[in-house]
Amino acid sequence: MKYPRVKVKLEKIKQNTQTLVNLCKSKNITVMGVTKVFCAIPEIANSLLVGGVDYLADSRIENLIKLQNYNLPKVLLRIPMLTQAEEVVKYSDISLNSEIETIKELSKFAQKHNKKHNIILMFDLGDLREGIFFEENYLDLVSQIIKFKNINLIGIGTNLTCYGGIVPNEIHFNQLLEIKQNIEQKNKIKIDIISAGNSSSLHLLDKEVPNYINNIRLGESIVLGRETAFGNRITNTYDDAFILEAEVIESSLKPSHPIGEIGMDAFGGKPKFIDNGRINRIIVGIGRQDVEPCGIIPIDEKLKILGGSSDHIIIDCTNSKKTYKVGDIISFKLEYGSLLSLMTSPYVNKIFY
Ligand SMILES: *Cc1c(COP(=O)(O)O)cnc(C)c1O
Repeated sequence: MKYPRVKVKLEKIKQNTQTLVNLCKSKNITVMGVTKVFCAIPEIANSLLVGGVDYLADSRIENLIKLQNYNLPKVLLRIPMLTQAEEVVKYSDISLNSEIETIKELSKFAQKHNKKHNIILMFDLGDLREGIFFEENYLDLVSQIIKFKNINLIGIGTNLTCYGGIVPNEIHFNQLLEIKQNIEQKNKIKIDIISAGNSSSLHLLDKEVPNYINNIRLGESIVLGRETAFGNRITNTYDDAFILEAEVIESSLKPSHPIGEIGMDAFGGKPKFIDNGRINRIIVGIGRQDVEPCGIIPIDEKLKILGGSSDHIIIDCTNSKKTYKVGDIISFKLEYGSLLSLMTSPYVNKIFY
């Protein structure tokens, strides 16, 4: 057994996917299953596939390359880099775009490889991450884009609640409809896909969904079983498909307050402490090189994470019923950010069961 490790219960991922796919299917919405948080590890991606997603989507082309053997359309979520245009054309079927210069480059390489590359044009409705800003004159831009011979404009989309934390609502749906209609009328073309956002748009599916909304891109809701506008749990999903296990490397009774003049901690911060006298402290063999201590949630609720440095996380276990000793394994549930960094860390073992 190698620790630290993330244990991934594939059956739970599959069930989470099924629950969400069924919900979306009932509203005629197709699902792009987003694999970036688990670095597109093929075993986990397979659970999304078995769970019924219509597309596999990732923000990094390196990850989509790992998924080439899966027979579903691959979607590149992050606006492509000019320098990756050829790989994007080779390894993705659809990419999300906002820059005409990049789309031109994609067309060039699509021609070289004798392909048509599909794009979804992203619109920024106020969250201020990627997309053509909705107040801009986008119609001229679209007229130029559809002239590129090897590009198919198959849809429009938006992304919210990522940078600005903006909560999607019906007004955003209406804005997308208006953009779609304007583009269709001006250019006499049909826009097939309206991609209404990510896991933060799920709360809108509880209500009437207008029939022009026909796609959603889901990552966090599949892996952690929650929507992301308000952080609510989704019924019939699991929040513990991913569990971190770390090993106790020291267990001791020590003061809660450091002794001496307090300067900087290992990361340049100035730490503050409350003196609770002597406490039972354990150290687990994982650190900020792998994960931020505040993003992991001990399953033993009486454990309190005190902090950490590059390679250590320190936990107060004074209130726990259990006494932890060297070699014991501590389990944690995960937040999105901690899941992302743990799956990315080569020092963290990953097992599937
Ligand atoms: C990451 C990402 C998603 C998935 O977001 P979740 O909140 O994990 O569902 C959707 N769309 C884009 C463009 C993304 O980058």
